[in-house]
This record gives sequence, structure tokens and C-alpha cells, in this order.
Amino acid sequence: MEQKIRNLKCLGCGAPISPDQKRCRYCKREIYISSFSSVLQQSEYDFERTRRFYKEREGQEDQPGLDHAEGMCYLRLSMYDEAYACFQKAIRKNFDSSETYFLAAIALLKGKNPFRLLKKDVDSAMTLVKDALSLEDVPVYYYFLAYLTYDYYGRKLLRAQVPWQTWLQKALEAGVSQGDREEFHKITHTKEPDAFRRG
Ligand SMILES: [Zn+2]
Repeated sequence: MEQKIRNLKCLGCGAPISPDQKRCRYCKREIYISSFSSVLQQSEYDFERTRRFYKEREGQEDQPGLDHAEGMCYLRLSMYDEAYACFQKAIRKNFDSSETYFLAAIALLKGKNPFRLLKKDVDSAMTLVKDALSLEDVPVYYYFLAYLTYDYYGRKLLRAQVPWQTWLQKALEAGVSQGDREEFHKITHTKEPDAFRRG
């Protein structure tokens, strides 16, 4: 489909683009940013332009990568409900990125410790992370499950289906790095539990 949409221009070089393009043909800029770290690395100025580009979705409605990208912008702004709604839209359109599920789970946490959430939200977050794992084996996803289980079930002395120690072990076996752990706690606005260091 080579349909050019009015006003849809590459943010890098201004060349016209069509909504189904993944990268600009000229400057190779990614049109729908796919990773949250790239969103976090953008300068305020660049971020604002990108956010507006995704929000003015004229002619791009069918592009599931757009919902994912817009969701990440809301997540950077700590607008969790809006972020969650975008990720759910991407999931309904069968956008097959494991990161969508992972970030949807992060949005459900709303920047709080799992301890302070409702059980149903913790369980929904766990289901989303398990869905992410069924798509892609990423070490930090196991770490996320360890953290959710520890902070909700462990701290409330509730019995979890799988104990947090098992998930943490899996994360370590999968090769989770100190950097992965730090980034995870930074984007969830949480802290690494002391118990994780002793283990
Ligand atoms: Zn370009």
C-alpha cells in the first residue's frame, strides 16, 4: 500500500511517509518507536514532537505499532491509565511484541509497589508478564515475576503458586544483568528488595 497520508511526515527529515512504513526511506529513522529505552533517551524536545506525531493519528488508525508507541509516550509521562489503554489496543490488534505485554503490566502498577495494589491488578500484571514470556524469553520478565510475587505475596505472607525465589532463580539463570534490574526499578519507580540481594 503506497498511500501517502496528508501531514504524515518523517520527524527526522520531513520526507512524506505512509503509515505502513516501518522506517523512513531516506534518513532510516524508526517511524513507530518500538523500545521503551529509546523513548526514555529522547530529549524533551524530541519527545514532545514524537508524542504529538503519535497523538495526531490521522490515517494511521490501523497501525498497531502506533498504539504501542503512543502507549510508551504516556508511560514516560506517568499517565498510566492512558498508557494501559493504548497497550490493550495494540494487543487486541495482535501486535506481536512481547514488550507491549511487559509495558502493559508496568502501566498496571501505576508507579506503586505491588504491595499497595489490589490482588486482581497484581494477578493481571502477572498474567501479562507470562504472556510476554510466551512470546519471548527475556531475563527481566522473570525478574518482574519475582518482584511481583515477592512484593505482594511474600510481604503479605500469602502463598503464591510459584515462590518468588523460583522466579528470581530463573531470572538469574536466564542471565538478568545488574543493569536490567536497575532499569526495571527505575521505570517502575520501585526499589530492589533487600531480600533479592541476600539470595
Ligand atoms: Zn526521514
